[in-house]
Amino acid sequence: MVEKILVVEDELALRETLEYNLARLGYQVFTAADGFEALALVDAQRPDLVLLDLMLPGLDGFEICRRLRREHSMPVLMLTARADEIDKVVGLEVGADDYLTKPFSMRELLARVKALLRRVQLLREELTPREDTSPTMRSRMRSRSPSSEKLRLGDLIFDTTRHEIYRGAELLHLKPKEYELLSYLALHRGRVLTRERILEEVWGWDFSGGTRTVDVHIRWLREKIEDDPANPLRIVTVRGTGYRFEG
Ligand code: CA
Repeated sequence: MVEKILVVEDELALRETLEYNLARLGYQVFTAADGFEALALVDAQRPDLVLLDLMLPGLDGFEICRRLRREHSMPVLMLTARADEIDKVVGLEVGADDYLTKPFSMRELLARVKALLRRVQLLREELTPREDTSPTMRSRMRSRSPSSEKLRLGDLIFDTTRHEIYRGAELLHLKPKEYELLSYLALHRGRVLTRERILEEVWGWDFSGGTRTVDVHIRWLREKIEDDPANPLRIVTVRGTGYRFEG
């Protein structure tokens, strides 16, 4: 199976250079010059990786990346000429997996692309059931099959079809409300969520318990997904307000 790469870049010369160099390495390359074209191609072609220019006419790279992240888990490598925007790009507000500052060397870009695709490949192999001892080829083909029902955030993998969440290769043992809460946080990552809003959206209007319920469930989740639950880096407390999921 040939890996597909979508190049989103409005500068014709750079777009063509990228297309040429990626195709030469054997990737199937699609190109888009603006955001709407890019989103349409993502839906139609399901690329394995997106190379995304930040400054584009119409929808900019931030917005495209945010929209992509609602439904897709493929890696996004952001290209930017604005060094001051880097924190925002790699921050979970936008959700790019990596970035390169223009001008960059083609060699560096190709190395990053390979590394990102390799990371996805390893992850999929980890997720492949172990009982199957079929030859490598078969497992490779299967692991490359579309997995649009899986959402990846850092080392967390959300299998929305099976209602399961993995941390790396490890299946998290979550109660139904913990699953719903973590999914809800993930869908709204980077945003401050009040306890009241979480309670309403995860537990519903008719729930009689107070916001303390939210705190308790957050604590349980932290024990499962934080390296140090006492100093959480993923589910961050926003003092006096609620929580923010960092990824
Ligand atoms: Ca541009």
